[in-house]
This record gives sequence, C-alpha cells and structure tokens, in this order.
Amino acid sequence: MRIAIISDVHANLEALEQVLRDSEKQGVEIIHFIGDAVGYGCNPDECVKLLVKHCDIKLLGNHDYVALGLESTEAFNKAAQEALSWTQNTISEKTLEILADFELEADYLDYHLVHATPDHPDRWQYLFDTIEAREQFRHFTQSICLIGHSHFPSIFVQNGDGAVTMHMKSAMQCQPDRRYIVNVGSVGQPRDKDNRACYVIIDTDANKILFRRVAYDIDATQAKMRKARLPEFLIERLAAGV
Ligand code: ZN
Repeated sequence: MRIAIISDVHANLEALEQVLRDSEKQGVEIIHFIGDAVGYGCNPDECVKLLVKHCDIKLLGNHDYVALGLESTEAFNKAAQEALSWTQNTISEKTLEILADFELEADYLDYHLVHATPDHPDRWQYLFDTIEAREQFRHFTQSICLIGHSHFPSIFVQNGDGAVTMHMKSAMQCQPDRRYIVNVGSVGQPRDKDNRACYVIIDTDANKILFRRVAYDIDATQAKMRKARLPEFLIERLAAGV
C-alpha cells in the first residue's frame, strides 16, 4: 500500500491540487495531512475543503492554531503576522468549525504523526539537528515519526545503538533495526531552494520512504496573492523556494 503524508499547505490551492493529482498517479490509497492548512496563502477555505475531502488523518499546525484563536501571533515574524490577520479576516466560520476538529497528533499503523515535535505537540519547536532528534526519538514508540513545520525535507535515522544521523535523500529503504523521523517538507511554501511542492509517500510493501517534488503554477498563485495584498516577501519566496 502507498500512503501519502502531506504538510504545510498554507492556503496554496494550486500546489495542493497538483500534489493531490500526483499522489493519485503514484497509486496512493490513503493521504494523511499533518498541519498548517492555512496562513501565508490566499485560499484557506478552498484548501481546508480539499484536505477534508481527500485526507484521512488531519492535524493542526501552529498557523491553524492562531487562525482558530487558540494562540496569539506574537511568536511569528511580521509577514506571517500580516498573513495571519488577513486569514482571520477572510476565513469562513464554517472552515473554522471544520479546522477545530483537526487533532494535535495521531498514530497510524507503525507511524506517529505530529506537526512539530513529538515531545510537546503544541509548543511548535523546530527540529533541525541530530542532538535534538536523539531526544525526540524518546517521545514516540513507533518506527517512524512524520513531522512538518520547518518546510525542510529531511530524514533522521536512529541506529540500534541510539546514534542519530541526518539525511537529505529523495528515497530511503527502511531497515527493521532502525527508527526514523521524517520531515515531509511543505506543499505550499517549500524552503529548501526547490520551489516545487514537496510531500512524502511511504510504500508499506517495499518499506520505502519516497520524497515527491511536484511543479505547480507559481505565477497563478503569486498573482492571486498580489490581488489579495498579501506581503510581497511571501509572494516572492514561493518562486525562490526559500
Ligand atoms: Zn508551516
């Protein structure tokens, strides 16, 4: 079976639509979404609707949390704050009701799903190095933990002796004596200098993790964002993929 894990859509409808098309072509049977449906982009209602239609598990991210009024925008940079107040002014009541049912973490087969880190799902910490990853491996029991949040695709591998290494590969064969933390990257705002939408497929038969990169109509997304008067910084970074 092929399972897709998608994260950080950030109201980018064109990117989400292409990822859903690609996952179908790739023979994906189940899609899980691990947070940040809204924030930054200009189609929060449409994206939440599509996510609910196509995804089985649906998690909350920090931007969704703010949109729901569960947290202030204090911890965000200026452009993100502006986009979040735009989102709060634009998003429909119905979408907020749907978002309120999304969860903070979930388990599926031998996988743990969380937006930021497994130790404190609602503290929105970033996981960038092997020292922190080693600590995070203590906070879930499954073989693979799937995360998003940083928009930076990567895999942390823990050997049987506890040592952790970090990898940036497009595919990885899983070994039974190892555990993994996989950052699935971002659908709607990639930041690893590749502007294509990013997501992960797990092939449960081959026991393989595959990163997918999908081109989408960035010009169309940018034109809509300009019309909505979203911050120029957020518009330009989509083309640069940073
Ligand atoms: Zn995000």
